[in-house]
Amino acid sequence: MQNAECLFCRIIRREVPGEFVYEDNEVLAFKDIYPLAPVHLLVVPRIHIQSLNEAAPEHEKLLGQMLLVAKRLAAEFGVAETGYRLVTNMGSDGGQVVGHLHFHLLGGKALGTKIG
Ligand code: AMP
Ligand code: ZN
Repeated sequence: MQNAECLFCRIIRREVPGEFVYEDNEVLAFKDIYPLAPVHLLVVPRIHIQSLNEAAPEHEKLLGQMLLVAKRLAAEFGVAETGYRLVTNMGSDGGQVVGHLHFHLLGGKALGTKIG
């Protein structure tokens, strides 16, 4: 359920360094290498799912777990009260660069109201 070429699969396999901040059997999170905010974490499933488009009903629990991990990390990183943004990019118009489903958790500064 992993992809040999996928960057995030390689980070998960520790073939590429990652600054992990959370890990369980299904979900991991690590710091974005090019942070766009003081807090910029990536929440990823351990299994390779290319994007939200490839998520299936069998992934329902996993997707819920990812959201709860994001919520927990927001609290841990001190942005739960001040606010944060949770976003997933899908495909070329969505700006997705890495083809492994991930939520960006951004916070620690005023992000503004525009998301596009
Ligand atoms: P996306 O455009 O939604 O696919 O986001 C991919 C994110 O992965 C970008 O914010 C990159 O900065 C980040 N990224 C790329 N390479 C790495 C890496 N080796 N470790 C951590 N984050 C990375
Ligand atoms: Zn992958």
